[in-house]
Amino acid sequence: MTGVILIGPPGAGKGTQATVISENFNIPHISTGEIFRRNVADGTDLGQEAQKYMSSGDYVPDAVTNAMVGNRLAEPDTAAGYLLDGYPRTLDQVSELDSILAGLDKTLDAVVEITANTDEVVARLLQRAKEQGRADDTEDVIRRRMQVYAEQTEPLVAVYRDRGLLVQVDGMGTIDEVSARVIAALSDAVS
Ligand code: AMP
Repeated sequence: MTGVILIGPPGAGKGTQATVISENFNIPHISTGEIFRRNVADGTDLGQEAQKYMSSGDYVPDAVTNAMVGNRLAEPDTAAGYLLDGYPRTLDQVSELDSILAGLDKTLDAVVEITANTDEVVARLLQRAKEQGRADDTEDVIRRRMQVYAEQTEPLVAVYRDRGLLVQVDGMGTIDEVSARVIAALSDAVS
């Protein structure tokens, strides 16, 4: 069982590194942001609810998000492990995840934090907005997302550090450089 959480500010390259981790450790990549975006694109009830918050850079309410993650982690492809990308993001979600994992008899083995410089990540996100046109990538929304991250998600780092699960990786540099650091650090942590 290799249970991993990937955490880091918007624009730190989480999505890219998540793919690398998922392939290297052979565990499914579970991105709550991706699941929400897919539901928005498909026009589901969940998507319509999530869209109200995503379009302004705020978090979708915990009740909606927790239920979605609980269902996803109960699927059979998570038997050997999972990689959570973008969840948990609040202290309440940390407690909820603890109960979900206990209920499913799964472990959490490492929390990888990708660190990044704020100016650099804002520049990266504006570039991505140009290339991919994500609706939540306008400058105001990006700044709001950074603020929400600092207020609501950064405190999680201390919680997981206290539990001895935190693995910090410098997210600055090329994708390959960061991937090499992530794989090395995570291999040490879960071996
Ligand atoms: P991401 O792709 O991870 O940056 O997520 C995009 C957006 O989806 C976020 O800005 C939130 O509005 C929403 N979202 C994703 N994960 C969560 C979560 N764990 N809790 C609340 N909202 C979330």
